[in-house]
Amino acid sequence: MGSMNLKDADPAFKHELTGQFGGENLMKCFTCLSCVTCCPVTQVNPKFNPIRILRMALYGLKEEVLASDNLWLCSSCYTCQENCPMAVRITDILTILKNMAIKAGNAPTGIRAQMDIIKGNGRIYPLDDFDNKKRQKIDLPPLPTSCHVVKDLLPEE
Ligand code: SF4
Ligand code: SF4
Repeated sequence: MGSMNLKDADPAFKHELTGQFGGENLMKCFTCLSCVTCCPVTQVNPKFNPIRILRMALYGLKEEVLASDNLWLCSSCYTCQENCPMAVRITDILTILKNMAIKAGNAPTGIRAQMDIIKGNGRIYPLDDFDNKKRQKIDLPPLPTSCHVVKDLLPEE
């Protein structure tokens, strides 16, 4: 897993995670590495390693984890979580970390752009009349070009 500098570690960070819904079993991990061997992202990009991120979090490397670009390589496929023998909710913990990273102002540019699109349109892919014409050609009903139900869920900044 490589070396880690624990000089500035925050020992309370693991409790911050285990206190959140989905993070409860983090400390049950016994490093079997099943999550690593089954992760489809790790298979194509060995730089991404879910257990390294979890271990860094357990050791209290909060700032380093929340600033890591690797965090965002997880595709949230849930393969690791379904295979963990200790019921560690790995995907959910990675989601908690992503949410913390956003709150810390560390969202990558692409994620920020997606957030802005959702805030503006209520969907990740903005629909327009051109899309509805294509739908009409294959006998699909038109879709609303804005989805206020989702927009209304998002807090005003
Ligand atoms: S599969 Fe579960 S127990 Fe095994 S290393 Fe991953 S998180 Fe830890
Ligand atoms: S949820 Fe993320 S870490 Fe887990 S297997 Fe999928 S890509 Fe890998």
